[in-house]
Amino acid sequence: MEKLRERFGPMRHRLEDPFELLVAAILSQHTSDVNSERAFERLEEAVGRLSSRVLAGMGEGEIAKHIRCAGLAKVKAARLKQVSKKIVEEFNGSLSKVLKKPVEEARRLLLGLPGVGFKTADVVLAFSAEAPVIPIDTHLFTLARRLEVSDSKDYDEVRAAYERLIPEGGRAEAHLLLLNLGKKYCSARNPKCHECPVRRLCPSGKAYHKL
Ligand code: SF4
Repeated sequence: MEKLRERFGPMRHRLEDPFELLVAAILSQHTSDVNSERAFERLEEAVGRLSSRVLAGMGEGEIAKHIRCAGLAKVKAARLKQVSKKIVEEFNGSLSKVLKKPVEEARRLLLGLPGVGFKTADVVLAFSAEAPVIPIDTHLFTLARRLEVSDSKDYDEVRAAYERLIPEGGRAEAHLLLLNLGKKYCSARNPKCHECPVRRLCPSGKAYHKL
């Protein structure tokens, strides 16, 4: 983590509001960061402040119109509408009470929302509730294998393996640092080990380049 902080600087998530994090996660499915961030901004510009009540009251076609640049606009609009309706109906339009519950219960409730999987639930817990969890995405799976943290394909096993190594207070930042490492250096197909800030600590980097 020290090496990554030296290279990338201290990191914070750009969003903290749980509903905005859910919207961003749904928009980011199967597209680039640039496209999903643009769609998020366009939707926000169109509706003012994003909230479950506002999106639940909009038609899917109208939502789709604003998020076209994220791709799969119809599918994502339907998901945004469903998740918004459920938050309005079951949680009175706000996730704040859910996030005050014990972590595992909050996680279970978040996983019950349409379109919310393990990673999205953990992103909301880590960045909105400051829960001591480390969300695992495809980059963190690849890194877990290459750094020999875990070779499991099971989400909870990989998460637990990282959490054994990373103290509670540093897990949200660790997620962002590792995500950046994955995006900038440790892509699945073409890892740039020769430039990587942890090449001297990484068993795979040493093996590739015989450092
Ligand atoms: S040294 Fe190579 S394999 Fe290891 S984390 Fe860096 S880019 Fe990935």
